[in-house]
Amino acid sequence: MRIELINTGSELMLGRVLNTHQQWLCRQFADRGYTVNRQVAVDDSGPAIEGAVREALARAELIVVTGGLGPTSDDRTRDLIAALLGRTLHEDPSVVAHIDGFFKSRKRLMPASTRIQAMVPEGAQVLMNANGTAPGLVIEPNVGGSSPCKLLVMLPGPPRELRPMFTNQAIPILAERFPLPAPFVCRTLKTTGMGESQVEEKVAGPLKHLTDAGMDLGYCARIGEVDVRFVGRGADAQKQVNAAESIVRELLGSLVFAADDEQLEETIVRLLTARKQTLALAESCTGGAIGNRITNVPGASAVFLAGLITYSNEAKQQFLGVRAETLAAHGAVSEETAKEMAEGARRKTGADFAISVTGIAGPGGGTPEKPVGTVWIGIASANGATAHRRFNAFDRETFKNVTSQHALDLLRRQILGIV
Ligand code: ATP
Ligand code: MG
Repeated sequence: MRIELINTGSELMLGRVLNTHQQWLCRQFADRGYTVNRQVAVDDSGPAIEGAVREALARAELIVVTGGLGPTSDDRTRDLIAALLGRTLHEDPSVVAHIDGFFKSRKRLMPASTRIQAMVPEGAQVLMNANGTAPGLVIEPNVGGSSPCKLLVMLPGPPRELRPMFTNQAIPILAERFPLPAPFVCRTLKTTGMGESQVEEKVAGPLKHLTDAGMDLGYCARIGEVDVRFVGRGADAQKQVNAAESIVRELLGSLVFAADDEQLEETIVRLLTARKQTLALAESCTGGAIGNRITNVPGASAVFLAGLITYSNEAKQQFLGVRAETLAAHGAVSEETAKEMAEGARRKTGADFAISVTGIAGPGGGTPEKPVGTVWIGIASANGATAHRRFNAFDRETFKNVTSQHALDLLRRQILGIV
């Protein structure tokens, strides 16, 4: 089956907004066994949207169009597609009621312009917007002639509206309308601590009998982690994927930290919650990046006590009790300082674990002994404190990401008692 995705929005063409719908929607389809065959992004203008939809109607069985369903003058998707398909628009009272309720629950007056979003093309199915006002629309184009198109789905632009609507409402419709010819199973194991080619070297051979039998095996290198993905199709799909998973878990052991969509910070919160243990952070060069990741996880408050961003030497002394002699003798970026930072954070907060990070993000400040990218990560627990050196010579943002990944992985190992 052929799927085409059309992302509309002049902001995409101006580089003001990253087209995350492209990646997110393609991934959602892929995880369920469908493949998007073509994707285009076009500006908001009538001819651009109309041209893209017209072209897709000639090829695709399923078309997904995103954006341009809102109330402003640059939101033209609904009107243009209705016109292209020869459908009149009528006001849908249930959508008017939904929009009205949306504003009432926020104690705001409903702007008259928002009512336009209740205009629904004749014959279209409405997908109520649980997080906004513009509904999604599902149309059977019935264009006849040579068009293979069976369904055209319009989704609102804002990601927090589009994503739940797609998962909860569009997917059930699509799964019923376009059943997969054979069972499909996809599983991703997330690993850390090894490069992509090392991972491949270890697992490709032992998985060969499964890939020979038709299972797909893929690798995806990300910042500080490598994903191993198995895709099985057909009667043996589940069996193949299960077998592959146990082989890789056996070979890589504790390098596998999670499956599917779980992030390392979620793993940490899950592990600490299960063990009723707590965490404190003492961050210098990561500037709160680790605390940010931890607090992105729902339920973090059960395990995360405090994060101190101690950037200056004085702050490291004042808030963490790092000794002046330690700083004078070894410098702020050193094993000794990292250990004292972690110990200090643990002592001040009473947490079971404390992590510290101190390093040289650059571009300035490096020396021959401590070049830019040098970082020390300290861990304190009931067993005492240790510190681990890493070398992450990247731009500042990547430096923070990679370093936070390293710190969280060291913590994961400490929690699990893996050395
Ligand atoms: P609204 O009612 O907010 O106007 P809409 O359905 O008309 O919604 P757009 O106006 O196209 O949608 O986009 C609204 C916002 O959604 C954009 O400013 C942008 O932040 C986000 N957005 C739109 N398209 C994309 C995309 N392809 N990827 C990521 N974000 C997007
Ligand atoms: Mg809009």
